Amino acid sequence: MLRMNTVNPPGNEMQVATFLVTALEGEGIETTLFAPAPGRAAVVARIRGNGNKRPVLIMAHMDVVDVEAEHWSTDPFGAEVRDGYVYGRGAIDDKGMLAVNLETMLLLQRSGIALSRDVIFVANSDEEQGGAYGMGWLIDNHPDLIDAELVLNEGGRTRMVDGALLYVALQSAEKVSHVVDLIAHGPGGHAAIPLEGNAIARLGRALAALSSHREPLFLTPTTREFFTQLSRVWQDARERQAMTDVLSDEPRRGEDVLASIPVFDAVLRAGVSPVMLHAGIRSNVIPTEATAQLNVRTLPGQSIDDVVARLVAVIGDDTVDVVISERGIDSPASDFTSPLFTAIRETAAALHPSLVTVPYLSTGATDSARLRNRGMQALGLLPFPMDQDDEDRMHGNDERVPLASLEFGTRLIYGAIARVAQ
Ligand SMILES: [Zn+2]
Repeated sequence: MLRMNTVNPPGNEMQVATFLVTALEGEGIETTLFAPAPGRAAVVARIRGNGNKRPVLIMAHMDVVDVEAEHWSTDPFGAEVRDGYVYGRGAIDDKGMLAVNLETMLLLQRSGIALSRDVIFVANSDEEQGGAYGMGWLIDNHPDLIDAELVLNEGGRTRMVDGALLYVALQSAEKVSHVVDLIAHGPGGHAAIPLEGNAIARLGRALAALSSHREPLFLTPTTREFFTQLSRVWQDARERQAMTDVLSDEPRRGEDVLASIPVFDAVLRAGVSPVMLHAGIRSNVIPTEATAQLNVRTLPGQSIDDVVARLVAVIGDDTVDVVISERGIDSPASDFTSPLFTAIRETAAALHPSLVTVPYLSTGATDSARLRNRGMQALGLLPFPMDQDDEDRMHGNDERVPLASLEFGTRLIYGAIARVAQ
């Protein structure tokens, strides 16, 4: 699958889908192939249980993001095995999990275990470009086929820290991504006469003010449970204490320590990142308008309007408009005591006794938000033990997964699905 180029756009996921259909049907598994658009595909397969419980759905996407091939040390679509790793675009996101999900279906079918619920397999397209030809299409066109009580999707972590396998972060909630435009206005004219209130200078002051602004703490039940559990196994004593402090009545000290770790800071508060600038038409004209685009990520249940009201106050300049141009999809958190959460926790502990499973609020957005809004208990897992360095290659250069982690990942997902579906 790594050797099939499914860079989206255009995607061309049909080649992967055809391979999956052959593998699933070859084992006698009931499988349907859809073509939401030319070259795009969705695969839905099902192993039937006795119907005592509602189905569990395992899903992964077939498309990948583009590559900067000149910065790779290997062919991004070569699936080269080197130094105990398999390299390729999508190795982490999300073809590794797609392979493990496929293996899970084949093993379940061969095992002949009696199931109390259906196990549904979905491979979809277009996750990296909004999902209109992927999960969005399936929900609009075939909602009955994917209806489930429990869902396992991408979005979590299985984390090595300093060489030790430490925790499984099971995504049960996610931040919401919005687009906010700053539009500064000012007098235009000939650049030979510098003007008070130049729009670009005003925009610059607004961005400078935002760069030193920190949004207030916003702790959700998921974040509370995450730091509570993590503080029990975290090795660095100062950071471990900070995890306890941030949940106390005096969060300030813990907040400052955790803020120095960007991935922790991002789950503690709304995030504001300037991402694009636009101003000016030529070198001798003062423009009347200058625009900056911000990506603003709120926490589940947090109002984007409240965040924007704070940004307006921080900027403190009524010639700079602050406009929400795209609102993200908020969704309720999944239950971290659900049968699937428990099955993953028990399977992980059976595989590696010191491994703890913690609920995790991801800073990235996934298709799970759509499913949570339909009442499904969706969890996000990345079942491959990796350190931060390997994980950071996701969407980056020389993306790879340790070969040994593919076996661990298969044992974890197969084990958990077999457990929850019996
Ligand atoms: Zn992905």
